[in-house]
Amino acid sequence: MQSIEQAFAQTHTRIDAALAKAGRPPKSAQLLAVSKTKPAHMIETLAGLGQRAFGENYVSEGIEKIQALASLPLEWHFIGPIQSNKTRAIASAFDWVHSVDRIKLITRLAEQRPTDLPPLNVLIQVNLDGETQKAGCAPEDIEALAEAIDQAPSLCLRGLMAIPAPRTEYADQLAVFERLKHLYDQLKLKHPSVDTLSAGMSDDLEAAIAAGATLVRIGSALFGPRASA
Ligand SMILES: *Cc1c(COP(=O)(O)O)cnc(C)c1O
Repeated sequence: MQSIEQAFAQTHTRIDAALAKAGRPPKSAQLLAVSKTKPAHMIETLAGLGQRAFGENYVSEGIEKIQALASLPLEWHFIGPIQSNKTRAIASAFDWVHSVDRIKLITRLAEQRPTDLPPLNVLIQVNLDGETQKAGCAPEDIEALAEAIDQAPSLCLRGLMAIPAPRTEYADQLAVFERLKHLYDQLKLKHPSVDTLSAGMSDDLEAAIAAGATLVRIGSALFGPRASA
Protein backbone atom coordinates (compact mmCIF):
# COMPACT_ATOMS: atom_id res chain seq x y z
CA MET A 1 0.00 0.00 0.00
CA GLN A 2 1.01 3.57 -0.74
CA SER A 3 2.44 5.56 2.18
CA ILE A 4 0.74 8.77 3.28
CA GLU A 5 3.89 10.66 2.19
CA GLN A 6 3.54 9.23 -1.33
CA ALA A 7 -0.19 9.96 -1.40
CA PHE A 8 0.44 13.56 -0.34
CA ALA A 9 3.08 14.06 -3.04
CA GLN A 10 0.86 12.44 -5.66
CA THR A 11 -2.13 14.60 -4.71
CA HIS A 12 -0.02 17.73 -5.10
CA THR A 13 1.19 16.45 -8.46
CA ARG A 14 -2.45 16.03 -9.57
CA ILE A 15 -3.37 19.55 -8.37
CA ASP A 16 -0.30 21.13 -10.01
CA ALA A 17 -0.94 19.32 -13.31
CA ALA A 18 -4.60 20.34 -13.33
CA LEU A 19 -3.72 23.99 -12.68
CA ALA A 20 -1.08 23.96 -15.42
CA LYS A 21 -3.48 22.36 -17.88
CA ALA A 22 -6.09 25.03 -17.09
CA GLY A 23 -3.51 27.79 -17.57
CA ARG A 24 -3.96 28.84 -13.93
CA PRO A 25 -1.11 30.07 -11.68
CA PRO A 26 0.70 27.52 -9.49
CA LYS A 27 -0.78 27.32 -5.97
CA SER A 28 -4.05 29.00 -6.99
CA ALA A 29 -5.95 25.95 -5.66
CA GLN A 30 -5.35 24.90 -2.06
CA LEU A 31 -5.62 21.41 -0.62
CA LEU A 32 -8.08 20.70 2.20
CA ALA A 33 -7.19 17.31 3.72
CA VAL A 34 -10.46 15.57 4.66
CA SER A 35 -9.56 13.56 7.75
CA LYS A 36 -13.00 12.23 8.76
CA THR A 37 -12.80 8.73 10.30
CA LYS A 38 -8.98 8.93 10.26
CA PRO A 39 -6.89 9.02 13.45
CA ALA A 40 -5.10 12.07 14.83
CA HIS A 41 -1.67 10.52 14.20
CA MET A 42 -2.28 10.56 10.43
CA ILE A 43 -3.16 14.26 10.66
CA GLU A 44 0.07 14.81 12.56
CA THR A 45 2.02 13.06 9.81
CA LEU A 46 0.50 15.33 7.16
CA ALA A 47 1.05 18.37 9.33
CA GLY A 48 4.72 17.37 9.48
CA LEU A 49 4.77 17.47 5.67
CA GLY A 50 3.42 21.02 5.70
CA GLN A 51 -0.34 20.48 5.43
CA ARG A 52 -2.31 23.01 7.50
CA ALA A 53 -6.00 22.81 6.53
CA PHE A 54 -8.07 19.80 7.61
CA GLY A 55 -11.75 19.04 7.05
CA GLU A 56 -14.06 17.10 9.35
CA ASN A 57 -17.69 15.99 8.86
CA TYR A 58 -18.78 14.95 12.33
CA VAL A 59 -18.81 17.49 15.15
CA SER A 60 -17.74 15.39 18.14
CA GLU A 61 -15.10 13.45 16.19
CA GLY A 62 -13.73 16.71 14.80
CA ILE A 63 -13.57 18.42 18.18
CA GLU A 64 -11.73 15.47 19.71
CA LYS A 65 -9.01 15.81 17.08
CA ILE A 66 -8.91 19.61 17.33
CA GLN A 67 -8.29 19.28 21.06
CA ALA A 68 -5.76 16.45 20.71
CA LEU A 69 -3.77 18.47 18.13
CA ALA A 70 -4.20 21.92 19.70
CA SER A 71 -0.44 22.43 19.91
CA LEU A 72 -0.14 22.37 16.09
CA PRO A 73 -0.91 25.48 13.98
CA LEU A 74 -3.76 23.87 12.02
CA GLU A 75 -6.85 25.33 10.36
CA TRP A 76 -10.07 23.34 10.84
CA HIS A 77 -12.96 23.25 8.37
CA PHE A 78 -16.38 21.80 9.17
CA ILE A 79 -17.70 20.30 5.92
CA GLY A 80 -20.53 17.94 6.99
CA PRO A 81 -24.28 18.42 7.20
CA ILE A 82 -25.19 20.73 10.12
CA GLN A 83 -27.82 19.91 12.70
CA SER A 84 -28.95 23.13 14.35
CA ASN A 85 -28.24 21.81 17.85
CA LYS A 86 -24.55 21.51 16.84
CA THR A 87 -23.99 25.10 15.73
CA ARG A 88 -22.57 26.23 19.08
CA ALA A 89 -19.91 23.52 19.04
CA ILE A 90 -19.04 24.30 15.41
CA ALA A 91 -18.86 28.06 16.05
CA SER A 92 -16.59 27.51 19.05
CA ALA A 93 -14.12 25.00 17.63
CA PHE A 94 -13.79 25.49 13.87
CA ASP A 95 -12.18 28.21 11.70
CA TRP A 96 -14.32 27.57 8.62
CA VAL A 97 -17.72 26.06 7.87
CA HIS A 98 -18.54 24.92 4.31
CA SER A 99 -22.08 23.61 4.68
CA VAL A 100 -24.28 26.60 5.51
CA ASP A 101 -27.51 26.30 3.55
CA ARG A 102 -30.26 28.03 5.54
CA ILE A 103 -30.92 31.27 7.42
CA LYS A 104 -31.48 29.57 10.76
CA LEU A 105 -27.90 28.27 10.76
CA ILE A 106 -26.54 31.73 9.96
CA THR A 107 -28.48 33.31 12.84
CA ARG A 108 -27.26 30.67 15.28
CA LEU A 109 -23.61 30.63 14.14
CA ALA A 110 -23.52 34.44 14.23
CA GLU A 111 -24.83 34.56 17.82
CA GLN A 112 -22.73 31.66 19.02
CA ARG A 113 -19.33 32.54 17.58
CA PRO A 114 -17.23 33.41 20.67
CA THR A 115 -16.34 37.11 20.67
CA ASP A 116 -12.67 36.44 21.44
CA LEU A 117 -12.24 34.53 18.16
CA PRO A 118 -11.83 36.03 14.67
CA PRO A 119 -14.92 35.88 12.43
CA LEU A 120 -15.95 32.38 11.37
CA ASN A 121 -15.27 31.88 7.66
CA VAL A 122 -18.46 30.76 5.93
CA LEU A 123 -19.15 29.06 2.60
CA ILE A 124 -22.69 28.65 1.32
CA GLN A 125 -23.38 25.09 0.18
CA VAL A 126 -25.29 24.97 -3.11
CA ASN A 127 -27.29 22.02 -4.38
CA LEU A 128 -26.59 21.68 -8.11
CA ASP A 129 -28.61 18.51 -8.64
CA GLY A 130 -32.16 19.59 -7.81
CA GLU A 131 -34.13 17.04 -5.81
CA THR A 132 -31.62 14.21 -6.12
CA GLN A 133 -29.58 15.47 -3.17
CA LYS A 134 -30.76 17.01 0.08
CA ALA A 135 -27.99 19.23 1.44
CA GLY A 136 -27.37 22.68 -0.01
CA CYS A 137 -29.55 25.64 -0.94
CA ALA A 138 -31.13 26.24 -4.33
CA PRO A 139 -29.06 28.54 -6.57
CA GLU A 140 -31.75 31.24 -6.37
CA ASP A 141 -31.41 31.36 -2.55
CA ILE A 142 -27.67 32.13 -2.50
CA GLU A 143 -27.99 35.91 -2.53
CA ALA A 144 -30.36 36.12 0.47
CA LEU A 145 -28.06 33.88 2.50
CA ALA A 146 -25.03 35.93 1.47
CA GLU A 147 -26.71 39.15 2.62
CA ALA A 148 -27.54 37.59 5.99
CA ILE A 149 -23.90 36.50 6.45
CA ASP A 150 -22.65 39.97 5.45
CA GLN A 151 -24.80 41.50 8.18
CA ALA A 152 -23.19 39.40 10.93
CA PRO A 153 -19.90 40.87 12.21
CA SER A 154 -18.91 37.49 13.69
CA LEU A 155 -19.13 35.79 10.28
CA CYS A 156 -17.13 36.35 7.11
CA LEU A 157 -18.60 35.29 3.77
CA ARG A 158 -15.84 33.56 1.78
CA GLY A 159 -17.68 31.80 -1.06
CA LEU A 160 -19.47 28.67 -2.21
CA MET A 161 -19.19 24.93 -1.73
CA ALA A 162 -20.87 22.08 -3.62
CA ILE A 163 -20.87 18.29 -3.64
CA PRO A 164 -22.30 17.33 -7.03
CA ALA A 165 -23.73 13.84 -7.45
CA PRO A 166 -20.93 11.56 -8.73
CA ARG A 167 -20.52 11.61 -12.51
CA THR A 168 -18.10 9.25 -14.24
CA GLU A 169 -17.47 11.25 -17.42
CA TYR A 170 -15.05 14.16 -17.22
CA ALA A 171 -17.20 16.31 -19.51
CA ASP A 172 -20.21 15.87 -17.22
CA GLN A 173 -18.13 16.67 -14.12
CA LEU A 174 -16.81 19.79 -15.84
CA ALA A 175 -20.28 20.96 -16.88
CA VAL A 176 -21.64 20.86 -13.34
CA PHE A 177 -18.57 22.61 -11.87
CA GLU A 178 -18.87 25.30 -14.55
CA ARG A 179 -22.44 25.99 -13.42
CA LEU A 180 -21.06 26.41 -9.90
CA LYS A 181 -18.29 28.72 -11.12
CA HIS A 182 -20.88 30.94 -12.80
CA LEU A 183 -22.83 31.25 -9.51
CA TYR A 184 -19.54 31.98 -7.73
CA ASP A 185 -18.59 34.75 -10.16
CA GLN A 186 -22.02 36.38 -9.71
CA LEU A 187 -21.66 36.24 -5.91
CA LYS A 188 -18.16 37.69 -6.04
CA LEU A 189 -19.37 40.72 -8.00
CA LYS A 190 -21.62 41.79 -5.12
CA HIS A 191 -19.55 40.58 -2.15
CA PRO A 192 -15.89 41.63 -2.10
CA SER A 193 -14.92 39.22 0.73
CA VAL A 194 -15.64 36.23 -1.54
CA ASP A 195 -12.45 34.43 -2.59
CA THR A 196 -13.06 30.69 -2.11
CA LEU A 197 -14.72 28.10 -4.34
CA SER A 198 -14.71 24.76 -2.53
CA ALA A 199 -15.23 22.03 -5.13
CA GLY A 200 -13.65 18.77 -6.17
CA MET A 201 -12.91 15.57 -4.26
CA SER A 202 -10.64 12.57 -4.89
CA ASP A 203 -12.47 11.46 -8.04
CA ASP A 204 -13.16 14.79 -9.72
CA LEU A 205 -10.52 17.28 -8.62
CA GLU A 206 -9.21 17.77 -12.19
CA ALA A 207 -12.61 18.88 -13.49
CA ALA A 208 -13.16 21.14 -10.47
CA ILE A 209 -9.80 22.85 -10.99
CA ALA A 210 -10.45 23.23 -14.72
CA ALA A 211 -13.69 25.04 -13.80
CA GLY A 212 -11.98 27.34 -11.28
CA ALA A 213 -12.04 25.68 -7.82
CA THR A 214 -9.73 27.40 -5.32
CA LEU A 215 -10.02 24.71 -2.61
CA VAL A 216 -10.25 20.97 -3.28
CA ARG A 217 -11.44 18.65 -0.50
CA ILE A 218 -9.48 15.42 -0.66
CA GLY A 219 -10.02 12.42 1.61
CA SER A 220 -9.49 8.92 0.27
CA ALA A 221 -6.75 9.84 -2.24
CA LEU A 222 -4.68 11.11 0.72
CA PHE A 223 -5.60 8.88 3.63
CA GLY A 224 -6.68 5.72 1.80
CA PRO A 225 -10.21 4.33 1.59
CA ARG A 226 -12.58 4.82 4.53
CA ALA A 227 -14.28 1.84 6.14
CA SER A 228 -17.92 2.05 5.05
CA ALA A 229 -20.13 3.34 7.86
C1 LIG B 1 -15.73 12.87 2.53
C2 LIG B 1 -15.84 14.19 1.88
C3 LIG B 1 -14.86 14.64 0.99
C4 LIG B 1 -13.67 13.80 0.55
O1 LIG B 1 -14.10 12.78 -0.29
P1 LIG B 1 -13.03 11.81 -1.02
O2 LIG B 1 -13.81 11.26 -2.16
O3 LIG B 1 -12.65 10.79 -0.02
O4 LIG B 1 -11.90 12.63 -1.46
C5 LIG B 1 -14.99 15.91 0.47
N1 LIG B 1 -16.01 16.72 0.80
C6 LIG B 1 -16.97 16.32 1.66
C7 LIG B 1 -18.06 17.26 1.99
C8 LIG B 1 -16.93 15.05 2.21
O5 LIG B 1 -17.90 14.67 3.04
